Amino acid sequence: MSQTEYQNNNKFSFEIEKRMDGHLGRAGIIHTPHGDIQTPAFMCVGTHGEVRFMSMENLHEIGAQAMLANGYHLRLQSPEIAAGGGLAAWSGWNSPTLTDSGGFQVMSLGSGIGKVVSMEREKEVLNADPKERLAKVTETGIEFTDPFTGKEEFIGPKESMEIQCRIGADIHMAFDELTSLADDYDYNVEALRRTEDWAQVSLNVHNQHRYDLGYEQALYGVLQGGRWEDLRRSTARKLGSMDFDGYGLGGAFLKKDLGSILKWCNEELPENKPRHLLGLSRPDDIFVGIENGADTFDCVAPSREARHGRIESRNGHFHLNKFKDSDLLLEEGCDCPTCKAGYTRSKLREMYKSDDREVRAKFFELASMHNLRFTLRLCEEARAALLEDRFEEFREDFSRSYYKKSWQEHLLELQARDTKK
Ligand SMILES: [Zn+2]
Repeated sequence: MSQTEYQNNNKFSFEIEKRMDGHLGRAGIIHTPHGDIQTPAFMCVGTHGEVRFMSMENLHEIGAQAMLANGYHLRLQSPEIAAGGGLAAWSGWNSPTLTDSGGFQVMSLGSGIGKVVSMEREKEVLNADPKERLAKVTETGIEFTDPFTGKEEFIGPKESMEIQCRIGADIHMAFDELTSLADDYDYNVEALRRTEDWAQVSLNVHNQHRYDLGYEQALYGVLQGGRWEDLRRSTARKLGSMDFDGYGLGGAFLKKDLGSILKWCNEELPENKPRHLLGLSRPDDIFVGIENGADTFDCVAPSREARHGRIESRNGHFHLNKFKDSDLLLEEGCDCPTCKAGYTRSKLREMYKSDDREVRAKFFELASMHNLRFTLRLCEEARAALLEDRFEEFREDFSRSYYKKSWQEHLLELQARDTKK
């Protein structure tokens, strides 16, 4: 594809193909100027415009439909990316892309928050000395100290939108304030007001630059509100009435609360716009997400964990360390290039432990391809099941094979695990 030939009449749109009976789930197609995304779908994370240790050919080969890059990490290169025709052309990916606003990365400097944090992590956050935090929220954005240069920096909705519109992904995220589990209700009310104000600024600035690179760039509003139903519902109604092209579902919350939070948001949001669940990719998160109306997902976990030897398979995840003498493939019947080429667990373990940089890089590529393909395939299979009205059967089979228990038993265990702490 040349840099000036776009698909879908250069426009962004979304169509729903099938709805799940009695639930918010659906299968659909997101049309973007750089191609279609068949949903539910997982987007591979390429923070700097490439997935680490993988080529664009690798990514296409494993069935990736879209790549998510980071607005904050690419901010200094954004003029060069704009001159190169936008992210898809500049990176050589030439397919749908999404950027996040950078708010999460900057806020992470402040409190070390994760997406779904455990109560253990929460204690560390509460005990952290505020003076050691590198980021501070103001009414107009976030002041922070760049961890690499030590320089004082500022990013707000205006800056984030200008950066994202230069990078030129097909889908952008509004700039938001992510709260942590340690923040109470009152703080969440205050933070949500800022996020809603910033949503309006994001929309205004984005609309000025929407066609700057010659194709339509879409903007998703981001929903926060912690674990409180009234906040989640009110912000979904408020942002839902604004002219966003889709919605990002964000926040730090306990894993067991994911389903309710998505339900509160998605019951209020307009049905005809796509929704992206930010930063989650565990099979159970994907199942809960799909059932409650999330269309797309992203997470660094599949490739990051692959590089650390944690491998996904239909029979559950495992660590390569345990397979010194094993002729088994990573997963029997897997259609990823690594399994198709016949790499055994013991061979990959040997590469993982190698001191040779090139061997290790090859291991990173092979393991990343497998874990990413696992996650992509899970979404493909869930989509096929949804289209054929057999999502619950598919999830039940998967659960019995992956978690070694029924889906209901797994959910009950999750509830018990989170409330014990
Ligand atoms: Zn495989």
